[in-house]
Order: sequence, then C-alpha cells, then structure tokens
Amino acid sequence: MCQKLSGKSFVPRVKRAAVAGGAVEGWTPAGNSAAYRQLISLEPPWGHTFHLELGTAEEMPARTSRLRVELECTCTRQHPAEDMLCFLHHSREQLRGNQGASLLDTLCTGPYLDVEKTTSWFQILVKAAWVMTQPLPRDCYLTVLPSRRSCRLRLANASNTQCLLIEMMFGVQHGDSGTFLIVT
Ligand SMILES: [Zn+2]
Repeated sequence: MCQKLSGKSFVPRVKRAAVAGGAVEGWTPAGNSAAYRQLISLEPPWGHTFHLELGTAEEMPARTSRLRVELECTCTRQHPAEDMLCFLHHSREQLRGNQGASLLDTLCTGPYLDVEKTTSWFQILVKAAWVMTQPLPRDCYLTVLPSRRSCRLRLANASNTQCLLIEMMFGVQHGDSGTFLIVT
C-alpha cells in the first residue's frame, strides 16, 4: 500500500528490500517484547538519480552512507504512464504549473536526501497506508512511535496485552551486488 500511495509524486520509490541473511533484518530483543527490523529499499523517482557516498574508513563498520540526489534529463524518454516535463530543461514556470516539486525541493537538504525529512514523510505514508488497508486487521492497533531516523511502529491487540514493535530502516542497493547500505 505504501508503494501504491507513493506512486505519482517525486518521492523515493519504496519497497521491501530482499536481503538474504542480512545482518540488518530480523528479530531483536526489545525489553519485554521483540522488535522486528525491516529494511526498506529506496529507489529514485522518475527524473532523478541516486548516488551513494560511502562513509570514511572509520565510519564503515557501521555501513553508513549519504545519498546524493541528482536530476536527470528526461527529454528523450517517454514516461510509461503520462506526459512528464524534464526537470532540467523546462522552465520553472512550466514546471510549477504542471508538475509536482522535485525530490530536491522536498525531502533533501542541499543535494542530499535528508533522513529526518524522509522519516517524517514515511511515517505519514504508513499511517495513510494503514487506514487504506482493507479489511483492517481485526483487533489490531497501529501506533507510529516518535523516531527521527527510522520508522518505528507498534502493533498491539485490543486489550494491549500483546504487542509487536517494528523498526523500518532505509537502505539503498549498492551496485549490482545485492547488498544494501543504510542511509544516514
Ligand atoms: Zn531534458
């Protein structure tokens, strides 16, 4: 549902990352309950490209990286569904009247994807997706927990005696290697 809701605007395409035996994904103890960590893969929207900038040698154990966002020319490409203007070669006036803002003007700080802005956007997306999920899981309540750099969810039963914590982190595929790096 998140994928569907984010489909038309120039926000990252989200999908569940397929990670085989990854260290990031899986169950972790969390106090009296358990938390499930899930990696969400971010892919560039139409007219944008992503460029991973890896951390320094000291930072690499944490496998973190920054994501630089660039606009790309789409003048000679046909959008599969509708007419789209080129962010690079149409005028600001044309773009303003006919097309949503680019990712650089929404979820970025400078040329980099801003993880805090992305988290806020994704939290809103998850809430909207939950409401639209039909039929709603019976006797199950979703709370989006405050979090700045990942999306943390709490699913509880009606009597609030059982709960499941889910932490969704953002990652980008590194080349064709099938490995994902966490965006920080
Ligand atoms: Zn162009």
